Amino acid sequence: MNKPVLPNSVEARDIAYHLHSQTNPTLMEERGPLVVARGEGVRIYDEAGKSYIDAMAGLWCASLGFSNERLAAAAGRQYAQLGFYHTFFQRTMEGVATLAEKLVELTGMEGGKAYFATSGSEANETMVKLAWVYHTVRGRPTKRKVIARDRAFHGSTIAAASMCGLGFMHREFGLPLPGFLHTICPDPYRGMLEGEDEAAFVERLAAELEKLILREGPDSIAAFIAEPINAGGGIILPPKGYFARIQQVLKKYDILFLDDEIVCGFGRTGNWFGKETVDASPDMMALAKGLSSSYFPISAVVVAPAIYEAVKEFNKAGGNFGHGFTNSGHPVGVAVALEAIKIYEEMGIVEHVRTMGARLRGHFERIGAASPIVGQVRGAGLMLGIELVADKQSRAPLDPHLQAGPAFDQIAYENGLIARCMGDVLGFSPPLIVNEAEVDEIAGRCEASLKQLERKLG
Ligand code: PLP
Repeated sequence: MNKPVLPNSVEARDIAYHLHSQTNPTLMEERGPLVVARGEGVRIYDEAGKSYIDAMAGLWCASLGFSNERLAAAAGRQYAQLGFYHTFFQRTMEGVATLAEKLVELTGMEGGKAYFATSGSEANETMVKLAWVYHTVRGRPTKRKVIARDRAFHGSTIAAASMCGLGFMHREFGLPLPGFLHTICPDPYRGMLEGEDEAAFVERLAAELEKLILREGPDSIAAFIAEPINAGGGIILPPKGYFARIQQVLKKYDILFLDDEIVCGFGRTGNWFGKETVDASPDMMALAKGLSSSYFPISAVVVAPAIYEAVKEFNKAGGNFGHGFTNSGHPVGVAVALEAIKIYEEMGIVEHVRTMGARLRGHFERIGAASPIVGQVRGAGLMLGIELVADKQSRAPLDPHLQAGPAFDQIAYENGLIARCMGDVLGFSPPLIVNEAEVDEIAGRCEASLKQLERKLG
């Protein structure tokens, strides 16, 4: 990035032939890509050997860093034994059964079942389809619509993108699809009115949700989807009591609660699952990313017994559950996920994340208190955000033309730190194996980068 691109280099060929995800094509052609050559622990290295601490774990996913040998060995063993088989037509494998059992146990979905897919988007779409089956079997086939929230991110396939509450996921494609609705994002920092406390804010959010349900007709709404802590919208921890109150409204109108744990799951927020951090009780949970530390594309949906019973009931006269991906329950993905979970258990992931998260947060709070442009430090566990503002007191945002968030990312990148801005919220979600010295290094590079940004903004 920002170097002259030599003819026939990796950069030149990448520019010539590769259409990138979430990348501006013109900027890509001007600047070229960052070619990642190798990884070691929490660091990645470019072709020239420069190292970067990836304080985003790639895309909130490489919880065990970038060079875990046990995961590689688990994949290798499985490839040698059985490189592929599927789970259609009553087929299974030992690892598939073991992982399904483990996920049901870990998530506390007693009596439930685990379904496998390969991406987070597929997992979220699977939850929607299962919600439709559930209501159809219960004689309410008109319950089809899904309510998501502003600023949410739920994936890139058509329904998953429709559930996103972010304009950049919609504008090129004429999305959202009809039937995908959005309610207010529960952001206490930006959303609370003057004089409103958290309890009143929660009441207003619940009232808004109820208003939307009544306007659309309760008989038309199948499900509500939310992340426990919104990751991609800017690390937004809902106000206390939010999910308990929202779930009262959902229950009243027979609306299922779909929990997107794709970022929050597997220790990220300082509990095994984000639902524990925010006190939520979902009907279905979507898992991916940390499930295999993203060393293999695997995702899962864990469902409550009533959802499984609906699928069974629908097909009781014959016929198969009409859903499935070629790679659902891929044996290598399953082997990697089982090994990742074993490592999480051995390392005491929850305690480790709480300790490292508190240390990183402490650093950020100190840095924020000294910085004139840090409005808030927030998050949970190792999922932290720093919101930049023009005025700490009034919370007035920075002029969007300043592009402060992207400027921070660029400065940090030059300082060997990969962070991720979401507008003017700086996101940090490092590999969960991060140690004290690495936490201190992330904070040090963040502080230096922020000071450079302050000077740049004048
Ligand atoms: N849900 C959340 C909360 C995510 O952050 C993401 C991806 O970043 C997804 C869903 C989509 O996952 P995938 O990209 O694997 O389809």
